[in-house]
Amino acid sequence: MTEDAREENMKFAYVPAAVLAAAFAASPVAAAGVDRLYVLDCGHITGPDQSRWSPGVNVGVPIELSDNCYLIRHGQDWFLWDTGLADALAAKPDGVKDPTSGLLLTRTNTLAAQLEQIGVKPDDIKGIGISHTHPDHIGNVEEFPHVTLYVQKAEYDWPNANGTPRFKPEHPVTKLEGDYDVFGDGSVVIISTPGHTPGHQSLLVRLPQTGAVVLSGDAVHFKDNWDNRRVPGINFNKDETLVSMQRIADILAKERAQLWINHDAPQSDAQKKAPEFYE
Ligand SMILES: [Zn+2]
Repeated sequence: MTEDAREENMKFAYVPAAVLAAAFAASPVAAAGVDRLYVLDCGHITGPDQSRWSPGVNVGVPIELSDNCYLIRHGQDWFLWDTGLADALAAKPDGVKDPTSGLLLTRTNTLAAQLEQIGVKPDDIKGIGISHTHPDHIGNVEEFPHVTLYVQKAEYDWPNANGTPRFKPEHPVTKLEGDYDVFGDGSVVIISTPGHTPGHQSLLVRLPQTGAVVLSGDAVHFKDNWDNRRVPGINFNKDETLVSMQRIADILAKERAQLWINHDAPQSDAQKKAPEFYE
């Protein structure tokens, strides 16, 4: 962690606590911690062959995947989890087909437009957590050039296939080595879940009414794979993936938490989308 990043991090972690303390002083019934979670539509992926994610199973069967981002309100602060496919994709109604994977990537609504609808400007956001650095999760990171990224060091230091860095070196970042309590009150906790990539991470959000939710990034891609503990062939490390899935299962049991699988389209279709929100 650089000195600048640490300072930024301190501000983020401690100012909200002070604000909350003041709120408690004014009103003993004021709610603490996180109070809203928005699910944002951050793209859509059509895969020609499910077995890309489930080796040997459903070979040649197409699959539709959702691609969500999540916006969290904590007192006066906003925290964004993942940024989805690049907003520029929305200008191409037919989407873009990835020549290597055959995946068709589309976006019908930009992240920028959804934030605007909620009334949040890019610089209002105090931090962005990145589950991992695949393009369907980091597509809009540079729309927030001043916002601190929360990324595992193992992910940050992992070069692209062509040797280039995954983030612009000037982008403010807090490099994590393990779990991290974002606001210092346990309401939003980054959970280290490596395997899909070297520094993949998930997010535990403890909502006052909905209860605890785990946003699992790409620790698993859809429910059938979760139920059967299947590991995609493209994953960085199979054993680490299985350990991380078990870790998530343990957290779900302990917290009585819901598992929100980013790319599970049927689950996503059933969820409220911004500007509606979960409390
Ligand atoms: Zn993904």
